[in-house]
Amino acid sequence: MRAQPFVSLDDIRTASTRIAGRVSQTPMVHSAALEEQAGVAVYLKLEHHQTTGSFKLRGATNALLSLSPTERARGVVAASTGNHGRALAYAAQAEGALATICMSRLVPENKVLEIRRLGAEVRIVGTSQDEAQTEVDRLVAEKGMIMVPPFDHPAVIAGQGTLGLDILEQVPEAETVLVPLSGGGLAAGVAAAIKGLKPKTRIIGLTMERGAAMKASLDAGRPVLVEELPSLADSLGGGIGLDNALTLAMCRDLLDDVILLSEEEIAVGMRHAYAVEREIVEGAGAVGIAALLSGRVTSGGPIVTILSGRNVDMILHRRIINGTASLVPEGTA
Ligand SMILES: *Cc1c(COP(=O)(O)O)cnc(C)c1O
Repeated sequence: MRAQPFVSLDDIRTASTRIAGRVSQTPMVHSAALEEQAGVAVYLKLEHHQTTGSFKLRGATNALLSLSPTERARGVVAASTGNHGRALAYAAQAEGALATICMSRLVPENKVLEIRRLGAEVRIVGTSQDEAQTEVDRLVAEKGMIMVPPFDHPAVIAGQGTLGLDILEQVPEAETVLVPLSGGGLAAGVAAAIKGLKPKTRIIGLTMERGAAMKASLDAGRPVLVEELPSLADSLGGGIGLDNALTLAMCRDLLDDVILLSEEEIAVGMRHAYAVEREIVEGAGAVGIAALLSGRVTSGGPIVTILSGRNVDMILHRRIINGTASLVPEGTA
């Protein structure tokens, strides 16, 4: 692995060539309803239609294909709130490698089952991403497995950045891009790609009020721990790692703003996605729509918003659509 602090546009172009044919090319559609709301053209990047249901297949595939055959044979391991684990399991199986996925007990059951179905071994450890990570470190030290982290890794960031290349290819006139933000691999990669090609484009990170580790870390100027709280945007949960090497610095340098969304706003975003755009998205995938509907995106258009994932428990989804769900998962309000 190179020691360079940043992932470059060249790295992202290399990743794009490497993963071509192994990930889907997802559609970009115009939203008349959101254009009316925002007063500027709004496009939805339907990345929740990506194979495995989220953009995470881009980073996982690029990381796996960057390994030597001997490294691949040792097996890959990761801690994941779900979508990264799913993506790594899929990517590993596609290349004939074994994946072991460690996750906390807060991860929804549907995600656990689907990862097992993809041929990976799942280990459930503790109640936080950090505890799951401790198990990963043990498997790396004791069994020699190769860790593929969910965001703070150059090949993962470069893989997620390929989404930025696709966005500018589909909407070259984009002025503002709305990116769901958790550990920052997606935002760092997309921002590096888009700012590398078109520096004046504004990149805005979107996350939930409940436990926004990257926002707290940007404010503090160093990685900080936040209490993990259940959220409708469960894919945005988890810390950024106290030893964060890449994504905090990249988000600090490349993001123009970070907007925090309430649980109510995220629910409204999911409802709009379904009822108006006819799309099933998980909470994390709806934060861009939520920010537009709440009127808090003030920068100019055309605006592209990334619908990042669709892996939501369908019973919860139905309750949100019907307006009968308590907005915070049970037992935590
Ligand atoms: C992982 C994930 C995010 C956040 O990506 P980061 O690289 O951790 O910032 C957003 N949406 C979905 C659906 C995800 O799975």
